[in-house]
Order: sequence, then structure tokens, then C-alpha cells
Amino acid sequence: MKYSQLFSKTLKTAPNATDTVNHRLLVQAGFVRQVMAGVYTYTPLGLRVLNKISQIVREEMDKIGGQEVLMPLMHPSSLWKKSGGWDKVDVLFKLKSRTGKDYALAVSHEETVTTLAREFIHSYKDMPMSIYHIQWKFRDELRSKSGIMRGREFLMKDLYSWHATQADFDVFYAKAKAAYLRVFERLGLTAKVTEASGGAFTEKVSYEFEVLSEAGEANILYCQMCDYCVNVDDIKTYHEGDDCPKCGKDKLRPAKAAEVGNVFDLGQKYTKAFDLTFIDEKGEKKYPIMGCYGIGISRTMGVLVETFHDERGIIWPRGVAPFEVQLVSIGGGSAEVEERAEAVYKELTQAGVEVLFDDRAEVSAGAKLADADLIGCPTRVIVSEKTGMQVEVKKRSEKDSTLMEVNELLKKLQTLKD
Ligand code: ATP
Ligand code: MG
Repeated sequence: MKYSQLFSKTLKTAPNATDTVNHRLLVQAGFVRQVMAGVYTYTPLGLRVLNKISQIVREEMDKIGGQEVLMPLMHPSSLWKKSGGWDKVDVLFKLKSRTGKDYALAVSHEETVTTLAREFIHSYKDMPMSIYHIQWKFRDELRSKSGIMRGREFLMKDLYSWHATQADFDVFYAKAKAAYLRVFERLGLTAKVTEASGGAFTEKVSYEFEVLSEAGEANILYCQMCDYCVNVDDIKTYHEGDDCPKCGKDKLRPAKAAEVGNVFDLGQKYTKAFDLTFIDEKGEKKYPIMGCYGIGISRTMGVLVETFHDERGIIWPRGVAPFEVQLVSIGGGSAEVEERAEAVYKELTQAGVEVLFDDRAEVSAGAKLADADLIGCPTRVIVSEKTGMQVEVKKRSEKDSTLMEVNELLKKLQTLKD
């Protein structure tokens, strides 16, 4: 993609009225625009990141047997009345049609998915079964702040599973937790598995995946010597300075964190409410055990920016960067440099590398380099009068650059992939 053709452009100065790093950098670098509080448009640049996060999540959900579906955003009120959510869920957006019918916008999809599962789950032989989708959610949040980390409209991956026995559920629950940790590891994030209450969903303990972040809204206590972590908002048993209940080697420390995922044992709450039954091995009619598993895709994008940036801009981890390489031509209008940069662009893209080519002739070298730092592609490649038949390569996360042949650069990029 040539920068001159790219739909969005960077802003020279930081935008006004942004309260967090992710909001400021994502707007300034041209990844998102706010439409109103908590509602954003993702530009082509922003959508590339969102899609890459989604793809990593998709791959890990597929590995544990999840099958992808797509459920709607608008639901009849009857679904939400059946579960009690119509009156109880305070963040539910409600709509009225011109004929006076009531609808809800999807806060989550337990109601829709349990109704759907009734069509296909009849016997113990139909389980275990798990389906997921990556779909927008709407929540009437009172305070939509922290950029894309708390939207009133946001992208979530939600997976649902059904099991004939608690033992079978427990096996899958452990697999799903491991898959979550793999997702966050691939994204370059350290997510702490945190015990919390099940909130509106269930009486049982649930697990949150928390990433330490000043822009997060969760208050946690964690141990630096082991992976122990609790959400202080839910679990009042522990206090700052208490010995770690798991390893005893350190005192619990308080921190702010962002919840990037959550898994719940729903028990039979929804299967009973929606009368989803199956016939077990002995021919008896029973309610399946159900689980639900969410990952905040758009919030995770915000958390990535909060975690990976410096004073000059974003530093995207490789797996989710909008482009792998930002190619910059510095020639002050020299035809030779422009031709050479064009040739390097062709060579890299033909080799399958995703390149954002800053081809602007009228813009100063300083401004182009500042933009490359702001946008934050992992590798910066410069073609200038000084580079001759080589290119100057620098990682966004490092200071020093190296001159090398394009072939060598391709080899290096390939090794990173393997
Ligand atoms: P929170 O406590 O932050 O309000 P939640 O516990 O209500 O979140 P869940 O119902 O568990 O959220 O939703 C699953 C995931 O969706 C969360 O772990 C989070 O990553 C994401 N998420 C929830 N609410 C929002 C929001 N308003 N904006 C962006 N992402 C969100
Ligand atoms: Mg949650």
C-alpha cells in the first residue's frame, strides 16, 4: 500500500480530548475515529489490526474444536425476557419498531445461542459441542472512556460450549483457558488468570484474563513471585500486603489491569431457562452444562497500544501490525532514489511482505520518519542517496539500523515468521 493512496493520514499534533494513550495514538496515527462517546470507526489501517487479532483468536478457537458461526446483533425482546435479562441487564440497549415491537441490541449472545443449540443438540452423542463468533456487542455503558478499551459498541469473540457431564465440561474449560493464554502470548501480552465472581451470569467462580495496564479499570492484587492474581472488586478475602496464598513467597501488590477475556461455567442456568435438554446414555432427559468464553478484540487492540508504545508512537507486535514494513524513500525528489524505492517496494510485496510505502515526494525526511514511528510497523526500511543498492533497516523497537541487501532483509523477515 502506498501512503499517498492510503485513505487515512496521520495528524501532525496530538488530537484534543483524548484521555488515554491508546485513544491519542490511534487517532493521531489514523487507525480510528470517534463517532461519539464509545463508538468508533476503524479506518483501513485500524481494520487490518482488528482483523489480525481476530485471526489469531480464530485459529486458537478452531484448534480446540470451536466452529465459527455468525449470530445477529438485533434480537427479539422475547429472547431477553426468557432469560430475565430484559429487566435485569442495565446495559441492554432497547429499540422499538414502528409497529411497536420491542427489540434488544446484543449485549452478549447466550440467549440467541441457546435457542440455536436447541435445534441441534438432542443426545449425549451431540456433545461436547462448541461454537463461536466474532461479532459486535452493544452496551449502554455510563462512562465510555479509555479510547477503544471501553466502547458502547465493541468487537468480541464469544464461544459457547455444551457438555453432557460436569467432568466433560471441566476438561474443555481447562482447554479453553490454555487456548486463551496462547492467544495472549501470540499477541505479546502477559495475561494473568484471575479469579472473579460470575457477575450477572452465574453464582460460580469465573476467570478473567487481566493485563496490567494503568488505563485498565480492574483493580487486582497479584504476586510477583508466582502467577497468583485476584480481582479485589469481587473477592474481599485478600488485602494489599497479605502473603501470597499460593506460593507465600511475596506480599500481594495492588495494580490496575484491563480485562481482555473472561470464561464462565454457566452450569445449567441457560439450558434450563431455554429448556435445552438431551437424552443421556441411560435414556434420561437432562440439561447440558454450558460454558461461555469471551475475548474483547477491540479492547485488546487498545491494550496493545497501551503496552507497546514510546514517546514517538506505537510499536506493534509483529503478529498484529497493520503492515510488516514501512518503506521510506528519502531523496529530496531525486528520480534515482524514487525509482530504486519503487523497485524495493515491488520486490518486497512480490515476496509476500506487507509493505506500507511512504512514497510522498513533497514531504521532508524528518516528517516521514516521524510518521513511521507514529504508525509503528515493526520494521522500517529506508532507501536514500546513501543506501545505493542496499537498504537501511531498523526495527521500530530498536535504535540502531543496519545496511543490507534486500535479499538479506527477506531472509531475516522469513526467519521471524518461522
Ligand atoms: P468489564 O468488567 O470491563 O465491564 P465485562 O466483565 O462486563 O467487562 P464480559 O461480559 O466478560 O465483560 O465480556 C467479555 C469481554 O469483552 C471482556 O473480557 C472485555 O475484554 C470485553 N468488553 C466488555 N465490555 C467492553 C466494553 N464496554 N468495551 C470494550 N470491550 C469490552
Ligand atoms: Mg468479564
